[in-house]
Amino acid sequence: AVVCPTGAVSERDDTGIVFEELTKAGPQRRTVVVMTAPSARFSLGEMFGEVPGTSSPAKTIAGLRAAGFDLVFDTTFGADITATLEATELVERVKAGGPLPMFTSCCPGWVNLVEKKFEHLRGHLSRCRSPMMMLGAMIRYWMHREGVRRDRYFVVALMPCTAKKVEIERPELRAPDGTKDVDVVLTVREMGKLLKTLGVSWSELPGEHKTEYDDPFASASGGGSLFAVSGGVTEAALRVAHAVLARRDVTKKNSDIFEECRRVAVSESVHKAEIDVTPSSRSRRTLSVAILSGSRKIQDFLEDLGLDQQAPTGGVSVSQPYHFIECMACGGGCIGGGGQPSTLEMHALEMRRKAVYAVDAESTHQTSSRAQHSFIRDMFGSITSDVARELLEYEPPSPKSVPLAPKDRTRSFGSVSS
Ligand code: SF4
Repeated sequence: AVVCPTGAVSERDDTGIVFEELTKAGPQRRTVVVMTAPSARFSLGEMFGEVPGTSSPAKTIAGLRAAGFDLVFDTTFGADITATLEATELVERVKAGGPLPMFTSCCPGWVNLVEKKFEHLRGHLSRCRSPMMMLGAMIRYWMHREGVRRDRYFVVALMPCTAKKVEIERPELRAPDGTKDVDVVLTVREMGKLLKTLGVSWSELPGEHKTEYDDPFASASGGGSLFAVSGGVTEAALRVAHAVLARRDVTKKNSDIFEECRRVAVSESVHKAEIDVTPSSRSRRTLSVAILSGSRKIQDFLEDLGLDQQAPTGGVSVSQPYHFIECMACGGGCIGGGGQPSTLEMHALEMRRKAVYAVDAESTHQTSSRAQHSFIRDMFGSITSDVARELLEYEPPSPKSVPLAPKDRTRSFGSVSS
């Protein structure tokens, strides 16, 4: 058995369950939906001998269709919405003075670590669901609107890690009637094995730019793609914060304002970036962010900052200097996840990372909030409407964290004006 590097769970092979769904015949056959994680789109081809960094999203879609999946959706769509809501939440918290720092919550390996060792930080996790769970809830909502009963479709998520298998079981992330929004998670390795069992011939699949995801969860921004790499969630969220605060989108021309995120994400020793999200604006807003990947690195960082213990007043120490901290349990982020293909290539992570950034550079929209604007308006009215919040956010169970009062928090963040 392969062991998840986050310690979340040993790999359980679920390929048999999906094989059964795909090969059912007659009235028993349900619509089988698959969603592909941002990072998985860049690595499935490695299961068929492709060099890391050369696997194309288009071939991944074609391979999944050839295996018999009826609808192929892009979890990057959910990542765009996560980035948009996370940035909205961050701006709200900065303006209100807390609770800060806000930690990302899209990595279940990190959330598990908080629950096991840093319970006092729970109230500092973002309220946003992960891209997979957001998309799962939106599929439920959309299918309901289309008149499709829940027992007539089956949802599979192609993910980079085994911790995602545990995430779909969480009671707080289930539909109101207790059903799961995602039925099964397959790692990239499991999906490769399944496709081989089903006789998919990878080398004969259509290549670049010939195959698209299915509507309505098809289009995605470059920012959403960045969720595949360490530092990408921060960069995507700050692009949205920039759009909100500077009233200007990040484009190919000015995306270099976030290059600091990339430099910090790959550095072994530097974790902190000071990002001016409103350059050339009169009311400057600089945000202090930390970017961490690898559970050991995260724990060392929390210890160094004194965030590993609850402060005597409750919550975290008033002197900590961060607004936003991204934590990904696997080194390098999801491209280095425990469910990714094994490789002998020493620079595999770097090669996958480059492929992710190339897709971002080529994308029509770089800012997540721009890519999903019309979908959100048509589906929910607004991203902060009651129905959107019910589907896209969640309440961590019984938080014991006692965040500091807003008036106490504002003293630590002199560079942020609200
Ligand atoms: Fe899973 Fe990505 Fe977190 Fe690793 S970093 S545990 S692959 S979500």
